[in-house]
Amino acid sequence: MKRLIHELEELEELLIKCMKCGMCQSVCPLYNENFFEGSVARGKINLIESLYEGNIKDVKNTLKILDYCILCGRCEKNCPSGVNTVEIFLKAKSSLRKIKKLPVYQKTLLELALSHPSLLTKISSMLHKGFKVTTKEVKDDIYHANLKLLGNRYIKGVKKTFFTSTYGGIHYAKEEQLKVIFYPGCAINMIYVDWGEKIVKLLNRLGVTVIVPETNYCCGIPAATMGRLDIMKKLLKINYDFFDAHDVKYVVTSCPTCNYTLDNLNSVVDLSKSDVEFIDIIVFIKQVLNIDINGHIKEKTSLHIPCHYESCYVPILIDVISKISKDFVELENQDCCGFGGTFNLKHYKDSLSLSLKKAEEVEKKGIKMLFTPCPGCVINLTDAVMHKNLKCKVLHPIEIFYEAIIGDASKN
Ligand code: SF4
Ligand code: SF4
Repeated sequence: MKRLIHELEELEELLIKCMKCGMCQSVCPLYNENFFEGSVARGKINLIESLYEGNIKDVKNTLKILDYCILCGRCEKNCPSGVNTVEIFLKAKSSLRKIKKLPVYQKTLLELALSHPSLLTKISSMLHKGFKVTTKEVKDDIYHANLKLLGNRYIKGVKKTFFTSTYGGIHYAKEEQLKVIFYPGCAINMIYVDWGEKIVKLLNRLGVTVIVPETNYCCGIPAATMGRLDIMKKLLKINYDFFDAHDVKYVVTSCPTCNYTLDNLNSVVDLSKSDVEFIDIIVFIKQVLNIDINGHIKEKTSLHIPCHYESCYVPILIDVISKISKDFVELENQDCCGFGGTFNLKHYKDSLSLSLKKAEEVEKKGIKMLFTPCPGCVINLTDAVMHKNLKCKVLHPIEIFYEAIIGDASKN
């Protein structure tokens, strides 16, 4: 306990910036659902302070309350005092986890899955089989979970062959103008393998040579959210070393959370960042390659902006989606979809409740295509539209770029 108090005291410099104004309440998606002070940044900060001041001693419940967070970062983005809430939560959880250890099965799974991804790749067909027997296909590669353990979820299937198994390596463009690394992240590697394939083919067609890692090392955010900053640091280092070993300016990502983690969370674990520039695939196509595609979609479309999408690039994203559609409507509900990776696994009901709110607006406005450039958001929003039985597709914008530039005939 003494060591814990000492570690938490080291956060004082970060905590002291919080003036307890409560302005984070208005932006916290969880607080706005349950009006529980422990949901919001101020409540969590008060709790950490109470723990190191010795006013409370309950490590287990403090951890539980810190865990009840999507890590959407909305409190941080909107805090008038510039409190680094995400850093505080991750560091405090890491300190508390040293006392209240993860259950052995979670620890083993985490270490196996994240630190040894090649092992995971080797057993991909077993994972695929396991997924198939615990679910039932209900619609075009969307499955409904049979097991109580998986909740009442609609999910996309885990693929038999992971993306890096077939695409790991270098893919040369015929007339190379630029060379980049494409960082797939876990969701594309294991689930949305087709997006990865489309990204490589599309970039090649646009004159970009693409390097794909032979092994997908996670960005580390799931480990960090589970209180294992040591694992996140190790993963970031492996990824940075890979990026820096290649002569490229850009690492292209298609998951804003991977991008955010690679680009920002190195400071939380005192690691110097890679020299490359991390850039979202849509921003890369639009801003670096100067590619525009114009309105060919007749159906009503809309856009969900992921929480970790860099604010300065949001106008680009809106411009892209509004231009590809003849009938584009903005969503009034610009809140978080509620996914949050491990948050969805631990608090499925609350996660679904947030995505269902979005689905209600989708239904009301008759939206038939909902775009969002984040695999996590696609997972959660697909689940919500399936629960409401809506005829709306949830898509990554890369699908539409691929269709417009390469076309249906080239689909594999
Ligand atoms: S985290 Fe920021 S917004 Fe929230 S109470 Fe503290 S100072 Fe106010
Ligand atoms: S990160 Fe998001 S969910 Fe967590 S406290 Fe901040 S606003 Fe709430």
